Amino acid sequence: PDGAARAVDVLVIGAGQAGLSTAYHLQRRGFAPWTAPPPDGGGTPGSYAVLDAEEGPGGAWRHRWRSLRMSTVNGISELPGLPTPDVDPCEPSSEFITRYFADYEDQLALAIVRPVRVARVEREDDDPRGRLRVVSSAGDWSARAVVNATGTWTKPFWPIYPGQDTFAGRQLHVADYVAAEELRDRHVAVVGGGISAVQLLDEISQVTTTSWFTRREPVWREAPFDARAGHDAVAMVEERVARGLPPQSVVSVTGLVWTPSLRRAAARGALDRRPMFTEIVPEGVRQADGTVLPTDVILWATGFRAALDHLAPLRLRGHGGGIRMDGTRVADEPRVHLVGYGPSSSTIGANRAGRAAVTQLVALLGGAGA
Ligand code: FAD
Repeated sequence: PDGAARAVDVLVIGAGQAGLSTAYHLQRRGFAPWTAPPPDGGGTPGSYAVLDAEEGPGGAWRHRWRSLRMSTVNGISELPGLPTPDVDPCEPSSEFITRYFADYEDQLALAIVRPVRVARVEREDDDPRGRLRVVSSAGDWSARAVVNATGTWTKPFWPIYPGQDTFAGRQLHVADYVAAEELRDRHVAVVGGGISAVQLLDEISQVTTTSWFTRREPVWREAPFDARAGHDAVAMVEERVARGLPPQSVVSVTGLVWTPSLRRAAARGALDRRPMFTEIVPEGVRQADGTVLPTDVILWATGFRAALDHLAPLRLRGHGGGIRMDGTRVADEPRVHLVGYGPSSSTIGANRAGRAAVTQLVALLGGAGA
């Protein structure tokens, strides 16, 4: 970098579903894709760019475990403007989505710059209509508005339990999980009440013994997950973030859905839930009844938090511990939108959020290149 900040109207951080949807709508509304200016300084600087920390397309899907196949995901919404190609249900979602996103970026000629990790976002001055400075691993950028689309994958949540450091076995988070085979013949304690916990219990219990610990009794829904249930879940999370509370996990709102595979796991006893253990000891976990369960591996299926550390200099968090939102817009900082956050942290929600954010940014900035 030459030291001078590269200027754009809108800088998008993250190129998962949410960032790509935002880029699509920016381009549709006339924001020109940024390209590196030629050495003679001519050419058009462009008015939007997407910075993404990954080595290639796919967002967090690049890192999902291989057994998460197109038949076992919850349903992936297509990106705006390009239908999803035919899906082979057996293909790992990591491969399918990476290919689909790569085609998408190419065909729409989106301005994605990678690998670039954003370290922090700051206000350039006290002017509430002034520019934002984005400090990255590839130099500084200056933008009139920032759309943050960094997802949650890079911020796995590990709860803290007494004795955790003394454990002689292996501890891993779902974000580190590769395949059941690496856990063969070792007793695995799975912690957490979400979809990843039950899906991984199902597959790990086929190669070794497992036990399942959750803080609360898991809530199973008998009815299939339909549009109505989805709508209600989103509305509940939306209401929380509008009040400045941290978003809670969508499963805590929707409940777990029985699939034929999970019913077979239940029949094997793999979904017999135990109350949360009270302590970790070198050889295992101390259960609620005081007995020690010998354990080789603790798998934390305890979810993720929004990856927002780089926004800390903007001081967006309020008394509720979360960021008060007005749709995708940060209520107290109209230059910053969060897409794929809280109520929009699904592929369908991310699509809608990208569109909503761009509509508001056009109004804020007075159109592209203004
Ligand atoms: P991501 O895909 O996480 O993309 C964020 C991007 O931002 C990444 O490329 C990342 O590298 C980049 N980034 C992060 N920090 C920085 C930084 N500081 N600087 C630059 N770049 C950065 N949703 C569904 O709708 N259907 C499903 O079937 C489904 N299955 C899921 C399965 C699992 C195991 C998990 C954890 C989630 C699942 N979800 C599913 C929810 C899912 O997270 C979202 O649907 C979607 O992947 C989120 O897209 P995103 O664009 O918000 O984030």
